[in-house]
Amino acid sequence: MAQKSPKPLVAGNWKMNGTTASLREARLLAGMLKGVRLKCEVMICPPATLISTIKPVFKGTRIRLGGQDCHGQANGAHTGDISAEMLADVGCGAVIVGHSERRTDHGETDETVRMKAEAAHRAGLIAIICIGETLAHRKNGETLAVISRQLAGSVPEGANAANTVIAYEPVWAIGTGLTPTTVEVAEVHASIRTKTDPDMRILYGGSVKPANAAELMAVTNVNGALVGGASLKAADFIGIIKAYA
Ligand code: PEP
Repeated sequence: MAQKSPKPLVAGNWKMNGTTASLREARLLAGMLKGVRLKCEVMICPPATLISTIKPVFKGTRIRLGGQDCHGQANGAHTGDISAEMLADVGCGAVIVGHSERRTDHGETDETVRMKAEAAHRAGLIAIICIGETLAHRKNGETLAVISRQLAGSVPEGANAANTVIAYEPVWAIGTGLTPTTVEVAEVHASIRTKTDPDMRILYGGSVKPANAAELMAVTNVNGALVGGASLKAADFIGIIKAYA
């Protein structure tokens, strides 16, 4: 497949999965990618507990590390939270903010997400800002309006192609095995493109697997993938990266 500009990003979100036993998959992934010239950037966002342990495993590869969330403040009395500065300190180059699971489980609003994205920028991290409609929104024909509202509310001033990635993740497609049609993906990505820097990467996320990756990644304005379940096994993740072979 011809490489599109900007350089695509395939990012794996391990979510709350992984113990030191998962280092085996990280080692497999590193072994498979060592010395390989890739047409996309590759990132793994492990749970925070594993970042420092995985870092040496990825040494000598182009696999980058990212966090799954950050607090808006740099430090302070926020028990259990992690700041963007802390993620940068342990070697992350990016952080996911506004994932629908954070929006649902922790009541994060567009404003919270924007503050987290600002924190990422402050710490020198790329903010991977997630947006996406629910099934009810889609059935009611509200998808583009919801996306537009989330973009306006979640993307901070100063966001540019170097410090921000947008991840379009229909909530109903996450972890369900369901995906929108390529026409539906193209429609949403085209709409997002009208509101972003032309070089800003727009990822698609939601049940991306080796079997559907090439088709989804070929859609206009899709500049990579945010992958959940299929990033946990090196062989599956490689199967997705191969969409850019
Ligand atoms: C995600 O959680 O960002 C995601 C896309 O999950 P999955 O690939 O499992 O649908």
